[in-house]
Amino acid sequence: MTTNHDLFARAQKLLPGGVNSPVRAFRSVGGEPFFTERADGPYLWDVEGKRYTDYVGSWGPMIVGHNHPAVREAVERAIRNGLSFGTPCAAEVTMAETIVSLIPSVDMVRMVNSGTEATMSAIRLARGATGRSKIVKFEGCYHGHGDSFLVKAGSGALTFGVPTSPGVPKASADLTLTLPYNDIDAAKLLFAQEGKELAGLIIEPVAGNMNCIPPKDGYLQALRELCTEHGVLLIFDEVMTGFRVALGGAQAYYGITPDLTCFGKIIGGGMPVGAYGGRQDLMEQIAPSGPIYQAGTLSGNPVAMAAGLAMLQLIQAPGFYDDLTARTVRLTDGILAEAKKAGVPFSVNRVGAMFGLFFTDETVESYTQATTGDVAAFNRFFHGMLERGVYLAPSAFEAGFVSSAHDDAVIAATIATAGEVFASLQAN
Ligand code: PMP
Repeated sequence: MTTNHDLFARAQKLLPGGVNSPVRAFRSVGGEPFFTERADGPYLWDVEGKRYTDYVGSWGPMIVGHNHPAVREAVERAIRNGLSFGTPCAAEVTMAETIVSLIPSVDMVRMVNSGTEATMSAIRLARGATGRSKIVKFEGCYHGHGDSFLVKAGSGALTFGVPTSPGVPKASADLTLTLPYNDIDAAKLLFAQEGKELAGLIIEPVAGNMNCIPPKDGYLQALRELCTEHGVLLIFDEVMTGFRVALGGAQAYYGITPDLTCFGKIIGGGMPVGAYGGRQDLMEQIAPSGPIYQAGTLSGNPVAMAAGLAMLQLIQAPGFYDDLTARTVRLTDGILAEAKKAGVPFSVNRVGAMFGLFFTDETVESYTQATTGDVAAFNRFFHGMLERGVYLAPSAFEAGFVSSAHDDAVIAATIATAGEVFASLQAN
């Protein structure tokens, strides 16, 4: 039998750290990753046949569970007609119509192949449209691995303690100004000083790459007003929150209209897809209708569009988000109650079907609170859960996700497992 360990040994000789994306390597939680052979509904199975209840969901896309028949069948139908055309295809038009109908701030859209591409392209558009060079991002927010964003970044960059990466030229990093998330006074001060030089402000409207931190009441609205006042484009990075916290994303959930929005994950149904879109006057500045260049050999790929469209169909079912939110509440309330029972200092954050678990009594509202939490306790909890067949994101700085395949029985089993693990943590 192929074992996880054998595969990881082979992988480490050939792939940096044995993986194709850093957080997968389990470096921060310790131990070795498992290798998934197949996935279905709320579950993953590794190459040794062990089953895991999965709260990572391919880092977000699997909102209807893994291997959903409607998505799989849409892909199967699409591939019979060929894998890539390099010409326009009808599914791209349907995809654009679907996005525009679901996200009122988006008049026009450009499909790309990843979240990283979406954010890099949106920033180029912001710079091209405003004629300004500087951008603002938030400490602990992750927007993919473009040079402009690997400055005080979240996710893997934060997990590995290198929030600002070597290889990012100083000239590029100098154009990225950073702010503390959820601190409106700091934003006002920066805009007062630099407002006229800023092309755009990019934010995860719910921070999901330093665990899960919702915006304080009125925070996003205040940022919207600051951007409008200073002619700065407000860019929502909804790669994670889009079609996750609500059908219309965080912008619908909080009632804010950004100038540009980036998408990824769910929009591709599990295929490599991203997109960016926004106001028509801005989007028309993208080539070939305008001078700002951005292109992609595989962009709008017919198979990826088929998967994404099937997914976007499923999530429009009446009551889908109410149901998903109720499941997430049940899960997080249940885990919290088990922690309290065991006397473990613990708190949870949750927006829609996105959640964060914190080993502290405090409500976590800032990067500082998130990064000074008890990472060692999280790591012990992670391994206790993993051993018992529950897979949480392998880092204290990642959000968790619930899918519509996580039914009551699955959630109850996870809560019971969490209770066992909390008790075992206290016993040691
Ligand atoms: N933005 C956000 C908010 C993300 O969470 C991620 C990925 N986790 C990205 C951008 C980058 O997306 P990708 O990994 O598809 O490049």
